[in-house]
Amino acid sequence: MPCTPFRTPDGTTGIVCTSRRRPRCSAPGCNAPSGFQCDHREKSGKTCDRHLCAAHAHQVGDDMHFCPTHLAETGGERQRDLFA
Ligand SMILES: [Zn+2]
Ligand SMILES: [Zn+2]
Repeated sequence: MPCTPFRTPDGTTGIVCTSRRRPRCSAPGCNAPSGFQCDHREKSGKTCDRHLCAAHAHQVGDDMHFCPTHLAETGGERQRDLFA
């Protein structure tokens, strides 16, 4: 089980142990813990679901985030509903 010592700004120290693997950001060269997933909808109807950290998840709407690739592809605009 991986355990990581931590220290908070007020001087508190401790160890946090994780029992399951947490997903990591999928951006190249980034190994930050993922807190988001890309919500871009592919032509197949599936979402991209790339894992993204806070720095690489680009918010494009209410609880909608794009990975850097899809942000560039769409110009950052909110997707129109394909089923309208
Ligand atoms: Zn990242
Ligand atoms: Zn994506």
